[in-house]
Amino acid sequence: MHPAQFLLLLNLKSPSLTRQSASHNCWQWQDVAAALSMGQLSPLAIELGRAKYCEDEDSCQNLLRQMQAVVQKQARQHRWRAHKTLLPQLAKLAVYEMLSAQLCKSCRGRGVTRRGITCTDCKGQGRQPLKAAQRYHFAGIDKRNWERRWHDRYEVVYGCLCEAESQLLSHLSWQLNDGSTAK
Ligand SMILES: [Zn+2]
Repeated sequence: MHPAQFLLLLNLKSPSLTRQSASHNCWQWQDVAAALSMGQLSPLAIELGRAKYCEDEDSCQNLLRQMQAVVQKQARQHRWRAHKTLLPQLAKLAVYEMLSAQLCKSCRGRGVTRRGITCTDCKGQGRQPLKAAQRYHFAGIDKRNWERRWHDRYEVVYGCLCEAESQLLSHLSWQLNDGSTAK
């Protein structure tokens, strides 16, 4: 199963878009929590899994902390000069975008078209990306500054979270599907 398709089976808030047999659609947060603890997921991927699927309030805060560390690390490495509040706000934006985005309308969250080609609108992520204006308003900076400097930097930061998500989905897909349904 494609990891993006698997996402739909886990996300309780999303409508049931794939007509799977009932047995496919019955993962509880306890199943996910158990699966998260197996193997060697990165701390970022584990907190993301808890925040998304385990209805755990604390894990949103933990996820945010992890993301703030990611942003700080990037800022140190690449010598980003930023106003004090901007870096934490970028971390918050990445978490917000990951957790609250709508399903992509083109592929309806699958990440792939009916012919199995990666969806170009969402680049296979299954989510409707935020608009540039939403991003820079959230970050608290102006359009010019965003376009000149922070857009690319944010893509790097958000990319780290997307990478953690794909790791998470492959992991859950592997842990929760038995041998007969895993592909
Ligand atoms: Zn799409």
